Amino acid sequence: MGEPYLLTPGPLTTSLEVKQAMLKDWGSWDGDFRAMTASLCEKLLAIAGDDGGDFDCVPMQGSGTFAVEAMLGSFLGPDSKTLVLVNGAYGKRIVETLNYLGRNHAIIDKGDYMPPRGDEVAAALADDPAITHVVLVHCETSSGILNPVGEIAEVVDAAGRKLLIDSMSAFGALPLKVGEIKYEAMVSSANKCIEGVPGFGFIIARKSELEAAKGNCHSLSLDAHAQWVNFKKTGQWRFTPPTHTVAAFMKALEMHEEEGGAPARLARYERNRDVMVAGMRELGFETLLKDRWLSPIIVTFFNPDHPNFSFPRFYDLMKARGFIIYPGKLTVVDSFRVGCIGRLDEQVMRNVVTAARESLEEMNVDSASPPESALKERARLAA
Ligand SMILES: *Cc1c(COP(=O)(O)O)cnc(C)c1O
Repeated sequence: MGEPYLLTPGPLTTSLEVKQAMLKDWGSWDGDFRAMTASLCEKLLAIAGDDGGDFDCVPMQGSGTFAVEAMLGSFLGPDSKTLVLVNGAYGKRIVETLNYLGRNHAIIDKGDYMPPRGDEVAAALADDPAITHVVLVHCETSSGILNPVGEIAEVVDAAGRKLLIDSMSAFGALPLKVGEIKYEAMVSSANKCIEGVPGFGFIIARKSELEAAKGNCHSLSLDAHAQWVNFKKTGQWRFTPPTHTVAAFMKALEMHEEEGGAPARLARYERNRDVMVAGMRELGFETLLKDRWLSPIIVTFFNPDHPNFSFPRFYDLMKARGFIIYPGKLTVVDSFRVGCIGRLDEQVMRNVVTAARESLEEMNVDSASPPESALKERARLAA
């Protein structure tokens, strides 16, 4: 058996081609590398559907969180007030970041299970004229909930406010075209739906916002305006770029295009999800979310109630069969997650279900149904 599959939302399983693209060293100042960075930005803007040239792409070193912090720190000025839509760990992280930055904010917190809806956001904006910005997590990777970005974007625009999106785990698969959904800026990273390796994130922002961001940022290294100006002036990253990661990402972008772009990738991920969820349900597992909110990115399952079930043991048994699953990140009930993204197809997902069945058998767990209390909690909150 080769390396295990990573059924995680990034880092994820990448193709051999992507890994092989890292076998060469690049000079960060060299023209070839500068051309690569420029082409990277062009391709990302094309995925975002920027035909009019109103947007620009600013790559940022670090993991995805660094890019989120760069977006928040650069676009939220000292007089801003931000409405943060929270329904999981990544929304909470945005609030935590704003606390670090000392930026004024209000919160709508929907707990672990429910998406923020347009009407409640509209009401909150009508109630508080001081709010200048709204921040939304596109796919809340902690539960796997797919938030209704189009609906939120409409009410934010209608109220004359600005929308910033953490589309980390969605961009490259789920649609987020600038001509269809109105937003000022969004972030994603190299190691999610584009299927590259970790090392940088990128901000896609309206040029007018990038210009207006001058002097806003609390941080030298995370200043999106300064990074943007430097790319425009020299074609270079301000500080050491993750050269191998960038080279791998170019290969990943090429393969993204060859597959048929975001729509084809989404179709593969949806198929992965459908095959895996159907198989897991047959074993008695239950998803946290109703089908309507299940993202094709990652799915949360309740831990079985059976006394012989232990997640660490289940994890090890799955790993021994070639699959790395992901612990849950919910506050109220015990759960685990299975990712659908990365270089995986439905055959892999069928093998995941087989591995889960064998692992349960080895643990002497004859039913994977969750505790009554988990189902009650789900019904109560989703009512
Ligand atoms: C992955 C992810 C991030 C960034 O996490 P890092 O660990 O910093 O890469 C941010 N938001 C969402 C929704 C994510 O899925």
